[in-house]
Amino acid sequence: MTPGMKVAIIGAGNVGATAALRIVEANLADIVLMDIVEGKAEGLALDLSSASSIVGHSRSILGTTDYKEISGANIVVLTAGQARSPGQSREELLSKNAEIAKDASRKIVQYAPSAIVIVVSNPLDVLTYLTLKATKFSPAKIIGMGGVSDCARFNMLIGNELNIAGSQVQSVIIGPHADNMVILPRLTTVKGKALNELLSEKKIEEIVGETRNFGARIVKLLGKGSAYYGPSAGIFALVDSIVNDRKKLLCASSYLSGQYGLSDLCLGVPVKIGAGGIEEIVELELTDGEKSALMNSAASIKNLIKKIRSI
Ligand code: NAD
Repeated sequence: MTPGMKVAIIGAGNVGATAALRIVEANLADIVLMDIVEGKAEGLALDLSSASSIVGHSRSILGTTDYKEISGANIVVLTAGQARSPGQSREELLSKNAEIAKDASRKIVQYAPSAIVIVVSNPLDVLTYLTLKATKFSPAKIIGMGGVSDCARFNMLIGNELNIAGSQVQSVIIGPHADNMVILPRLTTVKGKALNELLSEKKIEEIVGETRNFGARIVKLLGKGSAYYGPSAGIFALVDSIVNDRKKLLCASSYLSGQYGLSDLCLGVPVKIGAGGIEEIVELELTDGEKSALMNSAASIKNLIKKIRSI
């Protein structure tokens, strides 16, 4: 039990509402769900609250259109904005979602100046950077959620192939939460065994490709909107590690200031997540090929950052 913990979720859409469900059902924190659409967050909060006596949690869930209600939140999760449509890339959401993130940042500074912020809206890495710059919070307190669910997809696919639980797979995905994410099969292990001892190179390549396209596949199948069960589980993992100070090593978009030879951008890397937010950035030894993939993906993020300077 963690009395007094308050998580504010800005954007009561598919991802935000499902994250709220996971957090209250684990009895992790009280929730404020905020959305610009009149009645939406309020209605969902009522619905979520009505299940409490069945599932047995005692958390309060408030729905609102008023930013004031996020006051004093320990954690703010930013899930406001448009989701992808079939054929659309995450990067195409930039201008609309950047405006929303900028506005939300101002409100977070005003009402929840001590909060740790988990950015989820896409394009993830550039919006994480924008939120960091707009709030002027310490880099430890701005975390981008993308890598947790990307790793979960990769782990699940490997688990399926080996007929073991995906939770037994330890993987690392760095770089952007985008099609050019840098998946590192060389550093993936299953209870200490290297992945390349367990699967052929061809099979690994196949799984890497499937992981890269996992989000787009869901968008295509749904026809409207994008994934939310997996991403909300990723949000839950970060919130849980902060609230319970678990010090888990998770992949998340973080501000880099020299690590991996990169600076002044946010990019997915392995980090230690605890009560202080990002408590450590883990630097891995990369091969030349991995390094060059990371540098290329960083260049694509730098280009997007240039674009937001004019927003
Ligand atoms: P959704 O359309 O279901 O919900 C978005 C919500 O944001 C809507 O309820 C909308 O009314 C609200 N909103 C819009 N502008 C707002 C504002 N100014 N203030 C408050 N609320 C506002 O979308 P979704 O599926 O929940 O996805 C939300 C975002 O998360 C999208 O940008 C999507 O691309 C992103 N996403 C990221 C990941 C990831 O792994 N990082 C995964 C899935 C989705």
